[in-house]
Amino acid sequence: TQQLVWPMAQFGQVINMYQRAEASSERIFGLMDETGRIDREEGADDLEVQAGRVEYDSVSFSYEGYESRDSDETDRQRETAPTAADDSVEADHPAEESELIIDDISFEVEGGETLALVGPTGAGKSTVLKLLLRLYDVDDGEIRIDGQDVSEVSLPSLRRSLGYVGQESYLFYGTVEENITYGTFDAERSEIVEAAKAAEAHEFIQNLPDGYDTMVGERGVKLSGGQRQRVAIARAVLKDPDILILDEATSDVDTETEMLIQRSIDDLTEDRTTFAIAHRLSTIKDADTIAVLEGGRIVERGSHDELLENDGLYAHLWGVQAGEIDELPQEFIERAQR
Ligand code: ADP
Repeated sequence: TQQLVWPMAQFGQVINMYQRAEASSERIFGLMDETGRIDREEGADDLEVQAGRVEYDSVSFSYEGYESRDSDETDRQRETAPTAADDSVEADHPAEESELIIDDISFEVEGGETLALVGPTGAGKSTVLKLLLRLYDVDDGEIRIDGQDVSEVSLPSLRRSLGYVGQESYLFYGTVEENITYGTFDAERSEIVEAAKAAEAHEFIQNLPDGYDTMVGERGVKLSGGQRQRVAIARAVLKDPDILILDEATSDVDTETEMLIQRSIDDLTEDRTTFAIAHRLSTIKDADTIAVLEGGRIVERGSHDELLENDGLYAHLWGVQAGEIDELPQEFIERAQR
């Protein structure tokens, strides 16, 4: 049942696609701006992060209008399966009935705090974060970082302030060192080693044939999932972003490695504004705030204890994952499928 309720989000893959492009100075998140999905302000001021307080103020969003100029992959899918979706949109739904993927969401994350986003697949968790990264622009409302509207600050400054550690972290073909410095310029080897140590990656890197100069990624030495994640964490440690985005980073690794990874993630998130998408609730139970998303809306919000008290969706998901109840009550499954 757990797997059905929490299939892994696709967010990591999306970001990886941008990473692969490596087209601009905004190396980690650097493609979308060039495909014209968002409006770029010429001569916009740089974002200046102080406390790192993030506010979503009545934010609504739908992918409508983006789809037609989506990626190659979508275009290909359209060629092979052009009808169903398009036809039904044209025929059954007039434009003004466009489906809101994010439906009037408001919340704040205080500087240094952690907000966890949980909810069924398709609830909109990844989309919430794509809007923060400005991979897309909101249709309504505003997202502010320390009072500055993200759509009015320069994109490079926004992306510099954000770090990302994802589910299936992508390594490009290059040395381990290059993979760690990706997104950070002019780092010294000593800083890179420090970052790797903080990410519990130094030891295995030293044991690679050429240490930090070992070629990894496609055609290079194959790293395990846990090792790739630790390289991604080292990358984030080195970048030292004001705001961190975590797409649950511990998955197909053994318990010991998972503990190590969790410890380095805890260090990374401490005193840093963090958004975490979680699939296993145990990893986010200590978050300052947990927001439960369903159908593009926040249906519950609070601390772990408050949400258990609430006895709603979160409490039941928790019950399932903790093995206290066998499966999610039918009413929640039906709601999630709507
Ligand atoms: P979650 O992260 O909670 O699983 P997502 O934010 O990925 O949810 O998706 C929310 C909804 O938006 C889903 O219905 C999904 O199909 C849709 N969606 C996600 N990405 C796109 C896209 N690029 N174009 C069109 N629809 C999308």
